[in-house]
Amino acid sequence: YFVIQFIINSFVFITPGSSRPWPHTSFSSSLPNETIDTKLCKDTSCIKIASSDYGNIIQELPFGVLYPSSVSDIKHLVESSYNSTTPFTIAARGNGHSVRGQAMAKDGVVVNMGSISSNENKRISVSGNSSVGFYADVGGEQLWINVLGTTLEHGLAPVSWTDYLYLTVGGTLSNAGISGQSSFHGPQISNVLEMDVITGKGDFITCSKNMNSDLFYAVLGGLGQFGIITRARIVLDKAPNRVKWVRTIYKDFSKFTKDQEHLISIDGFDYVEGSLIMKNTPASDFFSPSDESMINSLASENGILYSLEAVKYYDDHIINTIDEELEMILKGLSFESGFLFKKDATFFDFLNRVRDEELLLQSIGLWDVPHPWLNLFIPRSGIMDFNEGVFVDIIQKQNRSSSGPFLVYPINRKKWDDNMSVVIPEDDEDMFYTVALLNSAKDYKDWVIMDEQNTEILKFCDKSGIKVKQYFPHYGKKEEWMKHFGKKWDIFKKRKAQFDPKMILSPGQRIFNSE
Ligand code: FAD
Repeated sequence: YFVIQFIINSFVFITPGSSRPWPHTSFSSSLPNETIDTKLCKDTSCIKIASSDYGNIIQELPFGVLYPSSVSDIKHLVESSYNSTTPFTIAARGNGHSVRGQAMAKDGVVVNMGSISSNENKRISVSGNSSVGFYADVGGEQLWINVLGTTLEHGLAPVSWTDYLYLTVGGTLSNAGISGQSSFHGPQISNVLEMDVITGKGDFITCSKNMNSDLFYAVLGGLGQFGIITRARIVLDKAPNRVKWVRTIYKDFSKFTKDQEHLISIDGFDYVEGSLIMKNTPASDFFSPSDESMINSLASENGILYSLEAVKYYDDHIINTIDEELEMILKGLSFESGFLFKKDATFFDFLNRVRDEELLLQSIGLWDVPHPWLNLFIPRSGIMDFNEGVFVDIIQKQNRSSSGPFLVYPINRKKWDDNMSVVIPEDDEDMFYTVALLNSAKDYKDWVIMDEQNTEILKFCDKSGIKVKQYFPHYGKKEEWMKHFGKKWDIFKKRKAQFDPKMILSPGQRIFNSE
């Protein structure tokens, strides 16, 4: 295994399109601006970190890495590229948790965002009051776990989350930032009041819905194409102390999705997700060993069980009535009789639930493995066909290498703002589904099989007319990007010409430098 891992780490896996020379990477041996050049780290250790990511699939070597100690260091870097006759590419690297090299810059400069903040300058502050509302001003480099820690000291917390909190504010706002709270509060990009952004021209601009709104909308879900977020003002609300956390089990996909859709349409839970339980699904520490064996004894027709996961927040003042409230919400759901599992947890432990899993996987060397993930947004009208064609036929029946977790849950559309760059299905339904096939490969052969499976899934959707959109999109060809953005392509292109005309930023997304 370790030999294979070494081989994987040593090779550059080139996906289609990445071998083509980029238009603006004409570095010779040094940067045009000497003062910037001296600030770059070109040591093997810096280059190694900046040329890898959580995906462990792509490797692109940058010319150097900037460890900024201030926002002006980043501004100077971008200015220096923009004003040069041979501009170089620049990628902000949040926590490098992309899976396809999106935060890399081949022959360019990677900005290690985390080095802006320090113990002396934490770059998270909480303001506001109960009449105007509360908010936090946070550095784009901040991990959400730190945002949670600081805001909780004030009894407050952001309202919209991702499942995992060791991701940066700038990184998730460049995508969308989704989790089981998105149906009730919108994705994280819908909960930003204001941002400071350094554009591809090196301009430092504060933007909001009312001020420089073009830039504000471009950057949110903008895949790092228009500017580097150095500050975001995030909406906060009063934080609950604890949560009631439930999981129910279904054999029948239509009953499972009907219950999910019902729960995101009523005022009951604060978080609703769901996942598949199959032969290879890693055990969840939500369930006790006896729960696990009870679930394993439940056979379904297609070999798949579906698990709905929901959470209700509560505080001490409703401690006597919360169980009753929970019963009321669960009444009328169609899960398998007796297959309701409950847990009580602190709000913090619930939000930080993936961390324990990460530490466990790290301890057994299974965290830094290739992650050929496929994340999709699926029109509601196509989810039943997707279940049959993908979950049942491609993944379950063909019994190939796959190791989840595989998430599936609906999200209400009404809190997504169509002005933002993020792409979701283009139909008129009031909700769409998200499917996250979060595969971990144990070796190279495994990785190839999983990637082939992902291609087959996309082909199936195409053939069946299920108009899916990729979340964390990854394409090699210009036409594919145009198809992905659909009616938003023209505005996306126009905004690029406006804010990053020399195509300096986030080259690892391969949008404007694809074939
Ligand atoms: P990076 O990977 O470093 O960067 C991502 C992109 O954003 C790059 O193009 C980069 O150049 C750009 N970028 C980074 N910082 C900035 C900035 N300050 N300004 C402008 N552009 C910037 N996502 C969800 O929505 N929901 C989830 O539940 C979820 N769970 C996850 C769990 C795990 C274990 C992992 C590994 C990822 C998960 N993600 C989830 C995906 C995550 O949102 C993306 O990987 C995202 O890219 C954030 O990672 P990052 O902060 O490390 O950004």
